[in-house]
Amino acid sequence: MYAIGVDIGGTTVKLGCVQDGTGIIYRDKRQSPRDPLVMAQTISGMVGVALRRFPGARVGISCAGSMDSQGRVTASQLGWVAAPLGALLYEQFRRAVPMENDAMCALAAEHLYGSLKSCQTGILITLGTGIGGGLIISGSPARGYMGLHGEIGHMITHADGRPCSCGQLGCWEMYAAASKLREAAGGMSVREVMSNVRAGRMLDIWNNYVHEVVIGLSSLMMIFAPEIIAIGGGLSNAGGIVIDAIRAGVSQTSAFNTFNPFTRIVSASFQNDAGILGAAALAAMAEGEGQ
Ligand SMILES: [Zn+2]
Repeated sequence: MYAIGVDIGGTTVKLGCVQDGTGIIYRDKRQSPRDPLVMAQTISGMVGVALRRFPGARVGISCAGSMDSQGRVTASQLGWVAAPLGALLYEQFRRAVPMENDAMCALAAEHLYGSLKSCQTGILITLGTGIGGGLIISGSPARGYMGLHGEIGHMITHADGRPCSCGQLGCWEMYAAASKLREAAGGMSVREVMSNVRAGRMLDIWNNYVHEVVIGLSSLMMIFAPEIIAIGGGLSNAGGIVIDAIRAGVSQTSAFNTFNPFTRIVSASFQNDAGILGAAALAAMAEGEGQ
């Protein structure tokens, strides 16, 4: 079985043709157009080329930002406020194309095939430019009212702290996103920071950063008592040292010792491909529903 997943990010649009859930057997990539119409045309063109090789494959889309039930997308990464992408895609494809927020797509991929597979209560955290992710509750992705997804990175961890683009003060991602580690290290890349940490340097900056990550995780553990927390995003590419440090920090928290001595901290399974895999899963599910 083939399904096509399209992952719209702030800089690139990536397409993957996925076989049996996780095998990406064809890829394509373009720069992200800023104009929503050009975006819809670009996606249509990429999908058209893929369909010539994989005729009949269904299509699903993962998109940065948030979208309403009419497919209007608001995404700061793309400079969009209520951009009518769903309607523009409908014109191109002459049918509704299933579309979902990128965090929810990544969560679906991890839950169906990866680190959160078969879990009843789990949390995915992606440490990147911001903090994304989502929750599995009672074996399903958790949703808010009208299908809205929550914003885990905008949990406040510092009362009256740094101003965030969302309008709040002291959001978790203002302290614990991977970009904040880079800032604290004077603009050094995450790779450079981590090679310093491995050599025993910059430990103040590193320990402080891990502490900020753990503060948020301990609140989530207190509320949700998860069996697994999966860590993804750019920082987790740095390997076991990141997971080990977070695991060590979490094991010192009251949340872990008092309520959740069972919570496992693991690496997310699908780093850069989570959006494609989640979007392809969305396409396969939509087909199952007869849409
Ligand atoms: Zn915020």
